Amino acid sequence: MKAVRIHEHGGVDVLQVDDIPKPEPGPGQVLIHLKTSALNHLDIWVRNGFPGISLPMILGSDGAGQICTVGESVTRFKADDEVLIQPLVYCGACRNCQAGNENMCATMGILGESTNGTNCEFIVLDEKFVEPKPDNISFTEAAAFPLVGQTAYQMLVKRAQVQPGENVLVWGAGSGVGHMAVQIAKIAGCNVIATAGTDEKCSFARDLGADLVVHHYNDNVAGVIKSFCGKVDVVFEHVGKATWDVSMKVLKNGGRVVTCGATTGPNVAIDLRYLFFKQQSVLGSTMGDADSFTQVIKLVEEGQLKPRIDKTFSLDDIASAHEYLENSEQFGKVVITI
Ligand SMILES: [Zn+2]
Repeated sequence: MKAVRIHEHGGVDVLQVDDIPKPEPGPGQVLIHLKTSALNHLDIWVRNGFPGISLPMILGSDGAGQICTVGESVTRFKADDEVLIQPLVYCGACRNCQAGNENMCATMGILGESTNGTNCEFIVLDEKFVEPKPDNISFTEAAAFPLVGQTAYQMLVKRAQVQPGENVLVWGAGSGVGHMAVQIAKIAGCNVIATAGTDEKCSFARDLGADLVVHHYNDNVAGVIKSFCGKVDVVFEHVGKATWDVSMKVLKNGGRVVTCGATTGPNVAIDLRYLFFKQQSVLGSTMGDADSFTQVIKLVEEGQLKPRIDKTFSLDDIASAHEYLENSEQFGKVVITI
């Protein structure tokens, strides 16, 4: 089968389409014929390299397709079922998993990072990492929301615990995780202030339902927010160094900043005097628990949450897809058709 693998870390030239043996499902596992996969910033981080990645690695965290065969004792699926993949890998047996905190499992990982991923024709997974594809969405849409939807839901609903009527700032509404966050915060009844870096992305953010859209290069973000609502209750952070100071500046007393990423750099300054005096919280969040995934699928099934596809690339054209994502050109998701 074809699989996008890296054998070393580096730029887009390390992405190789290899021909490797098709895997076979063991007990409790299913073999999925993937039809689509989606890109995330994680793919670029893994490609560039950080400690703990075993090589070679098949990239890709998100995917959707059809069941080919099932292993012994599989109960939930049969051949030809249409499915999507839950990108978080966890044991299911430890104390954290038993308590429903699968994203805090000691063996927690992500497909395409800790184990081979979805940029390939076939994948074998434990059936607990697979869910039926909602009938109202295409395979392209089914690959476009799992990682970013699960992440955004965990951040807003589980970590920041947003409440109806709260003001929420979402940085980078054009990004995969940002476009989910705008919609999830609106579904939760919040007022959403979204930022974007081009006029086209600002229109996209309005179309997603944002109440106020700020051009984060042309406008004074803190000034515009001040006129709109004063300060915000929650900041949805995934940008890091470039946005952190403004994130803290616009946060009201008792407010929460929740962060899942640092695309512009991880080292930021916090003035502890402001933090304790204003009784603010900085919340780290990574991926989401299994319930967040279930809840996000439900919202998609109900038609409330809509994954938006910006562009699709073929598996053979994976390098162009990485370049496109790295240049932050996208509105919503970049999907790979297999
Ligand atoms: Zn566990």
